[in-house]
Amino acid sequence: MKTTLIAVSKLKKITSLENVPFGSDYTDHMLQATYENGKWGEAQIMPYGTLELFPSTSALHYGQAIFEGMKAFKNRHNDKVGIFRLNEHFERMNRSAERLQMPTIPKEIFVEGLKAFVALERNWVPDFAGHSLYLRPFMFADDIFLGVRPSNSYRFLIIASPASAYYSRPIKVLVESSYSRAASGGVGNVKAAGNYAASLFPTQLASKQGYDQVLWTDAEKHEEVQEVGTMNIFFVFKNKVLTPTTDNGTILQGVTRKSIIHLLKQKDITVEEGNISMNTIIEGYKNGQLLEVFGTGTAVVINLVSELKYKNELIKLNEMPNSLSAELKTMLTDIRYGNVEDTNNWMTWV
Ligand SMILES: *Cc1c(COP(=O)(O)O)cnc(C)c1O
Repeated sequence: MKTTLIAVSKLKKITSLENVPFGSDYTDHMLQATYENGKWGEAQIMPYGTLELFPSTSALHYGQAIFEGMKAFKNRHNDKVGIFRLNEHFERMNRSAERLQMPTIPKEIFVEGLKAFVALERNWVPDFAGHSLYLRPFMFADDIFLGVRPSNSYRFLIIASPASAYYSRPIKVLVESSYSRAASGGVGNVKAAGNYAASLFPTQLASKQGYDQVLWTDAEKHEEVQEVGTMNIFFVFKNKVLTPTTDNGTILQGVTRKSIIHLLKQKDITVEEGNISMNTIIEGYKNGQLLEVFGTGTAVVINLVSELKYKNELIKLNEMPNSLSAELKTMLTDIRYGNVEDTNNWMTWV
């Protein structure tokens, strides 16, 4: 891999990585690979800096762009850096690529490239509790052409940003009854850049009513639960845990979601993946079966929901001592920082 190093690390100017605000600092380098004439060129690591783009660059107009979000953690026992579920993110990136008619990325570039990149930037991985290095692989259509067709050239990049323990208080959520995030057959099940743009306006409307996020529902009737903001959602009942099925093609297959389901099953807790109507949730709340609601995603890991507003119904949940969500968060944390044996082989240590 061709590597051009920065002369002096920007870390020299940063006194501490403790509590760095999310997305404000980027590491010294970035990885870049280009796709042209039907093939990928060699990945290169180079100093982090600006990209030169023509105004007619295809991605800027038609949104042929996808991304991943993942994290690396410092193991304080042996100083190694662990990337969480690297292969899951690699495979999901390529599912997104196929859906947006983009070339898939070879393992050599994504997996080997990311490992080399993280190893190079290891001093940027904060070793404070709950901290991590946020990794952002992304790809966009690079043709200088305004016609609507799949681009012939693409750029794949990886950038990284140190992240602090993102504590998020329990959120108030408005169940969406007019706008949709994803419809069956659409692109809601992949990480297309435009999905995020489309969610901003409804989220802003909810925020004006005092809510932190919207709970997306099915595009037809707005009765079935999909996701909360940019997180997958879980409902903890007294005797089981419910989460929406990804079979309808409207739900992003979160790596955190998959990991939580695995951990629940290992704990012999019943997990049901299915179509979940808001009425089931309301009913469970009224008869005292619903205990906790939480969202999952790489950025926050687990975020509790304290309030859900649906039509004229209001669900209010108190944070409980010894909650299942807190236990799951601890289990995941212990695996990521190497505090316990990684029996599922989720970590790639570099
Ligand atoms: C990325 C994302 C998630 C969370 O996925 P993780 O792999 O757990 O980070 C959930 N929903 C949407 C819409 C997303 O884009």
